[in-house]
Amino acid sequence: MHLGHSYKQHPPTGAFDAIVIGSGIGGLVSAAVLSRFGKKRVLVLERHYRLGGFTHTFTRPGYEWDVGVHYIGQVGERGALRALFDKLSDGRIRWAPLPDVYDRVELGSRGYDFVSGTGRFIETMGRAFPNERDAIAKYVDLVKTTTKRGSMFFMSRSLPSIVSAVTSPFTTRGFAELASRTTRDVLLELTKNEELIAVLTGQYGDYGLPPSRSSFAMHAALVSHYLGGAFYPVGGASVFAEGIAPLIEEGGGHLAVSAEVSSIIIEQGIAVGVRLADGGEQRAPLVISDAGVANTFGRLVPEASRPASWTKALATVPASSSYLCLYLGFKATDAELGLTGTNLWLYPDEKHDENVARFEADPEAPFPMVYLSFPSAKDPDFQRRFPGRATVDVITMAKWEWISKWQGTKWHKRGEDYDAFKQRFTERLLEVVFNRLPQLRGRVDVAELSTPLTAEHFASHPRGELYGIDHTPARYELPLRAKTPIPGLMLTGADLATCGVAGGALGGLITAAAVVGPGPVMGLLKRS
Ligand SMILES: Cc1cc2nc3c(=O)[nH]c(=O)nc-3n(C[C@H](O)[C@H](O)[C@H](O)COP(=O)(O)OP(=O)(O)OC[C@H]3O[C@@H](n4cnc5c(N)ncnc54)[C@H](O)[C@@H]3O)c2cc1C
Repeated sequence: MHLGHSYKQHPPTGAFDAIVIGSGIGGLVSAAVLSRFGKKRVLVLERHYRLGGFTHTFTRPGYEWDVGVHYIGQVGERGALRALFDKLSDGRIRWAPLPDVYDRVELGSRGYDFVSGTGRFIETMGRAFPNERDAIAKYVDLVKTTTKRGSMFFMSRSLPSIVSAVTSPFTTRGFAELASRTTRDVLLELTKNEELIAVLTGQYGDYGLPPSRSSFAMHAALVSHYLGGAFYPVGGASVFAEGIAPLIEEGGGHLAVSAEVSSIIIEQGIAVGVRLADGGEQRAPLVISDAGVANTFGRLVPEASRPASWTKALATVPASSSYLCLYLGFKATDAELGLTGTNLWLYPDEKHDENVARFEADPEAPFPMVYLSFPSAKDPDFQRRFPGRATVDVITMAKWEWISKWQGTKWHKRGEDYDAFKQRFTERLLEVVFNRLPQLRGRVDVAELSTPLTAEHFASHPRGELYGIDHTPARYELPLRAKTPIPGLMLTGADLATCGVAGGALGGLITAAAVVGPGPVMGLLKRS
């Protein structure tokens, strides 16, 4: 199991061709592709004590939980992402399919299944909404074409800005207009049925914005990502880092954990390396940041070197929503508890936007959404590793402002009022779980709540946000590209494309394509 070398105990030696800040999936993919195609020695610096960013896992005696991986699409036998991960991990990352019904959306007592396969998806939704069959078919068509056009839009971010300016009328054709509209606006043109709109947007937690705030481009990308079915990495999310790290090391690279970068060194306007929190320095002709665009330009690039145009543009897009996650452990198997791998999306009713707004204004209001995921039931290797145990993750949205007053306090020692806040939300979330799955009442062995402070502490996202910068229409107008206005400094990861493991990996590919050219990178997505 490869979890990275401690920076202090095993400091990297020799010269590096590139430094990658952060070992999220974007950092790992960009580093691995550069190792494979030319930039031989890549140094990955991760501030956490484990590699992986949101793909890392954490353990408590008898249990392990993922943080940011519940299901992934396009990794079936013929999926483009499958080819990518197979090549970067030499087949070490293996996949287990979720049940045919990968998501179930419940609006109060009314339930709707999301079934694998485009045809079956249309058929099942059509059965639930027989008067809306045409609208559903048109919707799926639009989702697919928007996503297809989106791939051109994103890959053009690997081009230098001058080339991109020339090609942009072609790369954004048919996409920019839909990206600039909200999901609700676009759906309202297809149907006026509010129940159907609520069901079709019932995975909005996967990008963190209700229908009247999200860009349709993000919605389309997410829906289309899972249309062919969903999968889980066998052995849990840590297999991403374990699987990909060897390729980086084979190229002479090095992956260091507990290696916090405090700033990017800019000399005469050019990025030439990084300064670490311990005061040390690492230099390389190329610095790639997977730390998120807000972190990179708000914290790591020294103020005097921040390009004014980017600062101004970035101010138009806020951080995405923060979240609470309750990690549950049971001393029983999933079979004994009657749990399956189908994700449950629980909503009070069909009014997603109103419910979110009410909760944001008052944390005591009913949860606008509760997502239940069953990692142990999805992972065929879980019983071998943790016999007789099961795990459940319970996620809802939260506001950074609710907990920001405890920022700066020490992890596990944040004070009694913070503990009381956590206890209150733990009990409320447990009640939701027990109402839906009464067989779990009285059987919880471990219950641990993470708050936005946890995400800020471990993943370094400034407001403990789920998904980097928000996926509003304005996000799609940002002048983001792999190459920043600072020569020698590039971006990677989900902020460069979209949230999600696939989005983060796409960010990694865009960055690598900007260095080694699109040809070899596109080849990684083909089965050979
Ligand atoms: C609760 C939750 C559930 C999710 N569920 C899913 C899912 O089911 N399916 C899916 O596809 N996606 C899911 N996602 C989203 C997905 O996990 C992320 O979008 C994706 O992993 C982001 O990858 P990244 O490389 O862009 O960034 P990150 O994973 O955030 O990695 C950034 C890394 O940079 C490091 N870093 C930051 N600052 C510094 C510094 N100064 N020095 C050194 N290192 C630094 C951080 O520690 C971190 O490791 C989920 C996310 C969350 C939070």
